[in-house]
Amino acid sequence: MKHTSNVLGAYGTTIFEVMSQLAVQHQAINLGQGFPDQDGPEDIRAAAAKALLDGPNQYPSMMGIPELRQAVADHDRRFYGLDVDGPTNVLVTSGATEALAACILGLVNPGDEVVLFEPLYDCYLPIIQLAGGIPRFVRLDPPNWEIDPDKLRAAFSKRTKMILMNSPMNPTGKVFTREELELIAELTRQHDSYAICDEVYEHIVFGEREHIPLMTLPGMFERTARVASAGKTFSLTGWKIGYVTAPTEMTARIAKAHQFLTFTTAPDLQKAVAYGLNKEDGFYLDLKQSMQAKRDLLREGLRGIGFKTADCDGTYFINADISSVGFTGSDEEFCRLITTEAGVAAVPVSAFYQSEGARRNFARFCFCKRPEVLRAAIDKLQDFFARKG
Ligand code: PMP
Ligand code: GLN
Repeated sequence: MKHTSNVLGAYGTTIFEVMSQLAVQHQAINLGQGFPDQDGPEDIRAAAAKALLDGPNQYPSMMGIPELRQAVADHDRRFYGLDVDGPTNVLVTSGATEALAACILGLVNPGDEVVLFEPLYDCYLPIIQLAGGIPRFVRLDPPNWEIDPDKLRAAFSKRTKMILMNSPMNPTGKVFTREELELIAELTRQHDSYAICDEVYEHIVFGEREHIPLMTLPGMFERTARVASAGKTFSLTGWKIGYVTAPTEMTARIAKAHQFLTFTTAPDLQKAVAYGLNKEDGFYLDLKQSMQAKRDLLREGLRGIGFKTADCDGTYFINADISSVGFTGSDEEFCRLITTEAGVAAVPVSAFYQSEGARRNFARFCFCKRPEVLRAAIDKLQDFFARKG
């Protein structure tokens, strides 16, 4: 057989699939891959079921159904004061993953540079490479995940086509501050680049921290695409409904790639997500508060066992320093060991680093699970480390 794609040939199966399979094999509690263990609101699911039976179930417009495009525009105005026009500034996609692929493939030419923060979500780099783009990494390190402004400045050049960033950030749990966003905005404007902002965890932000879309900063709307996903906002990760908000011309360029990737997305799910986005503020507050309570529960449990944990201001994930419980092997060895021996799966943070010299002493634990499941996982880990002495 002839060779596969040079880009994809370098990649194995994603760490999420690998750890989920291992968890199933060993009947471990899966705190690896990020998905809630309870489906989102019943009224949203009922709206999807009704739309499926009522129809039509034929191809919707490639841009998305008008109700959902309008609901995204209304959502962006309600939460961020953005002046978004549904018919020209919104594109519906098959999940944030397809949205990101459409943004990258629609905008990047071979040889263009893309600035990225590391650790980075797994699909970014392969898609950039498929487009022929050249990554310029800016490393963030635990426990504070701070940006070194000089390193960020140095990553930009006249070849920079875009910065691709993720806030709230997977796997770090970092929520970018206004000061950090101001620096990113300044550099992006200075280099006349685009910004692609993966904001799928926009409503999962804790305490006093606030999610600020880069797009809301002066001069940024005209060069930014904001990507979000119903999967996270409505705890329906299997639905794969994403949406992009971008200025008119940029939306058209992104849509050119989208039309050849998936073209369109299930109409019944789109209708239900439009209904969901219009939910009252209380729904969004409950989501944030319940996720924060889950973070607190898992964080306290991990600390009780002796783990030092990195900062976590948002997302589904908290990172634990495995060296703080005396483990001297790699994070990958640790995650395999606790899956097979303690019955709890996690994901090694080094899987999110591509450049040399990644830290190998952090494991990512997912906390979007029922409290009793989190307690059972803590008990299992506690027993395991007590036995190990
Ligand atoms: N970006 C980030 C940071 C994610 O964590 C995820 C998956 N949870 C995605 C994008 C993909 O979202 P979707 O499932 O809507 O494709
Ligand atoms: N975003 C999820 C995570 O980080 C995984 C999604 C996937 O499996 N592709 O765990």
